[in-house]
Amino acid sequence: MTDGTRSERTHDDIPSGRTAVVIGGGLAGITAALALADAGVRVTLLEGRPRLGGLAFSFQRGDLTVDNGQHVYLRCCTAYRWFLDRIEGAELAPLQNRLDVPVLDLAKPEGRRLGRLRRDPLPVPLHLGRSLAVYPHLSLAERAKIGRAALALRGLDLADPSLDAQDFGSWLAAHGQSARAVEALWDLVGVATLNAVAGDASLGLAAMVFKTGLLSDPGAADIGWAHVPLGELHDRLARKALDSAGVRTEVRTRVTSVSTNENGSWNVQVPGETLTADAVVLAVAQREAHDLLPAGALDAPENLLDIGTAPILNVHVVYDRTVLTKPFFAALGTPVQWVFDRTHASGLREGQYLALSQSAAQDEIDAPVAELRERYLPELERLLPAARGAEVKDFFVTRERTATFAPTPGVGRLRPGARTKAPGLYLAGAWTATGWPATMESAVRSGVSAADAALGTLGRPRPRHLFEFEEAA
Ligand SMILES: Cc1cc2nc3c(=O)[nH]c(=O)nc-3n(C[C@H](O)[C@H](O)[C@H](O)COP(=O)(O)OP(=O)(O)OC[C@H]3O[C@@H](n4cnc5c(N)ncnc54)[C@H](O)[C@@H]3O)c2cc1C
Repeated sequence: MTDGTRSERTHDDIPSGRTAVVIGGGLAGITAALALADAGVRVTLLEGRPRLGGLAFSFQRGDLTVDNGQHVYLRCCTAYRWFLDRIEGAELAPLQNRLDVPVLDLAKPEGRRLGRLRRDPLPVPLHLGRSLAVYPHLSLAERAKIGRAALALRGLDLADPSLDAQDFGSWLAAHGQSARAVEALWDLVGVATLNAVAGDASLGLAAMVFKTGLLSDPGAADIGWAHVPLGELHDRLARKALDSAGVRTEVRTRVTSVSTNENGSWNVQVPGETLTADAVVLAVAQREAHDLLPAGALDAPENLLDIGTAPILNVHVVYDRTVLTKPFFAALGTPVQWVFDRTHASGLREGQYLALSQSAAQDEIDAPVAELRERYLPELERLLPAARGAEVKDFFVTRERTATFAPTPGVGRLRPGARTKAPGLYLAGAWTATGWPATMESAVRSGVSAADAALGTLGRPRPRHLFEFEEAA
């Protein structure tokens, strides 16, 4: 298909009622393809780029294998954990035994100060009580008020659609949270998970994140991340799992149109070939989905164009020596947000490679590298004394301008579910109505939902293992 030869190939060899094409090889599409194949459907997965993994991928820079952006997940991300198991990658992206986030604050004139957000082996909400009680970045009064706001948050009903219309920042202010408490706690977590500051975030999505991550199960917020390049998981291992499930995967294959044919099934057009299928899962970003959706498939297709996007910037610094002894930390009182040690994962043999993950990066996403270098290297020296005498061997940035959908108030009513009005056509993607912000978890959940809906139409039974993560939740 990728050699440019033209053919009119249909899946004549495949029994009718059992074929599906999945468009988009990000986590949503990979999940949908695996789920459909596991249920006995003949699946073709089409990805426009040369690799699978969508927004969570790796590339080579000389000897270094670089992730386009640092990705983490939480223990409560049961669908993504199921996905890791399904591709046999869970051991390569382990979870912390127990939540422990070092938080370095540079705001105080007397110098940097280390605090920790960690949990104790106690029931919710006591599991965080001791850590918050001694959290040095907030006053005693602020800490007490955080406890009260957390209880109020816990009482919110996530099924209440009015939450989506409100912004989280105003809700926090109305619940006694100072600007400092927002910066040192709510935004510390919220910006990284929602990709927006509290004032720009839907209360519904923020409540979902905090209730699920911090106020459900004691271990829910334990952090996991890939100890290998993301491409090892989302491309190589995913590809292996797809191959053994019998999925035909085609990369460098961009779909140009999706339409019904006279037999009542679907035609999927790629350069040089028309594929036919009984079901199609459109697992591309919202704008691409809008452009590919046939007329009448959604009541309000223009809603997809109203879902905004938000950028994430990653700043990559390679030092000639070790400057950080922890696997990661978060920072306050500096433009630096979260810093991860990527040395081992990247294959670097000498020195240390740090990746700075800068979410909600609207103000910096287009800044020249020289400007970012001037801004971030001195900040790293303030945060990490060992960086002061170190030589910077490499400095570069990765920019993802449309990293996530913008979690703005009102976005909930714009996100469609997996089913469309066109029989046999389904939507997937982190931006669809999963209830989650734009995360790997949301992408996997959307892929499962789309596959589930398609299986119903195709008359295939749901494979039980597909929904195990719901029970684990
Ligand atoms: C820098 C960065 C940091 C992030 N950090 C985190 C994090 O820490 N934790 C977390 O959980 N999430 C994080 N995310 C979000 C997460 O990566 C995404 O939510 C998730 O990967 C989206 O998956 P998806 O399958 O829905 O969409 P995508 O990954 O966008 O996949 C869609 C795929 O469709 C393909 N496609 C588009 N059009 C066509 C076409 N016409 N034909 C064929 N193929 C097509 C695209 O090439 C793409 O591969 C981050 C994202 C970025 C960019």
